[in-house]
Amino acid sequence: MLNDPRADGHAAASAARPPAASGVAEGAEAGAPGVADAPPAPGRAEAGRARVAAASAGLGVAEGAEAGGPGVADAPPAPGGAEAGAERAARPAGRALGLVGRVLRIERASIHDGAGLRTVVFLQGCPLRCAWCSTPESQFARPGVGRDPAALYGESMTVAEVVAEITRDEVFYYHSGGGATISGGEPLAQGEFTAAILKAVKAHGIATAVETTLFAAPKYVFAALEWTDHLLVDIKHTDSAAHARWTGVPVEPIIRNLRAVGASGFPGRITVRLPYIPGINSERANLVATGRIAAGLPGPAELELVPYHRLGVGTYEALDWDYALPDLRPPARADLMAAVAYLADSIPGLTVALAR
Ligand code: SF4
Repeated sequence: MLNDPRADGHAAASAARPPAASGVAEGAEAGAPGVADAPPAPGRAEAGRARVAAASAGLGVAEGAEAGGPGVADAPPAPGGAEAGAERAARPAGRALGLVGRVLRIERASIHDGAGLRTVVFLQGCPLRCAWCSTPESQFARPGVGRDPAALYGESMTVAEVVAEITRDEVFYYHSGGGATISGGEPLAQGEFTAAILKAVKAHGIATAVETTLFAAPKYVFAALEWTDHLLVDIKHTDSAAHARWTGVPVEPIIRNLRAVGASGFPGRITVRLPYIPGINSERANLVATGRIAAGLPGPAELELVPYHRLGVGTYEALDWDYALPDLRPPARADLMAAVAYLADSIPGLTVALAR
């Protein structure tokens, strides 16, 4: 997990910051990603769900372990994954409900981060250090303290406590087509905790979404994927040097994980999201490269532009951190609409949307 961001100078030092100890290195792949040539998976129905289950078989949640700890087994995918996955799906979450994780906050009745009305669970900890991060307090992997020592960011919760919050609005999900979204920070930085929440939520028949960078070890990606209906994947920049400059980590592991998800036959919905940061990743070459990544995945190709905003700047002040982009302003609506139109014209079959 992460060090306290304040200890490494945060945004000012983000470009030089090495990848955090996230476990990603075990699957990291050098070289240009080029996802557009990823082979389409043969189907996104039950066979796909079975393949995802096979990929994550053996990833039991370590009961009683801290969510950020190394409790997930490194076992390779087990044979007979489809049956094993079906059995696990039918089992109650059991003692995994007692697993403890770090939660920044839980927002109810959200219309963001997925379809319908949603409860969004923001988990703490993130291996990235995006210069524009609007929730810097989510980067704390442990309880975070700002300028005011009385202001503590985040709390420890069990899976059962999180699920109890989510199920409070069950009736609204049903009527709005909504559900629960696990976000962050980076939710896969607490891979076991995230998978356990998703599994328990699915046991209630509630639709699930995960909002992630996919900068995580593949075992955490697939452990979560088995219980995920909608995967929202942020790609901040397709050029790895630029990605590293602005987020502190390379893009290759992210692209590699996304390709693996596509190849696994994941039957759910995938939305690629681009935080549209003027002058940083808004050039047309990057827009098109990102759109091609989305178009290269199986199933309907979806790309969502998330316009840069400055709502988190006040939090930097509260944390007594420097904001790395003090002069940057949100994009003009006309520029955003032009980007959407350009992408739609450039990549046939790609659905392009602006985030709400
Ligand atoms: S991935 Fe999200 S939470 Fe993490 S630093 Fe970037 S913007 Fe912040």
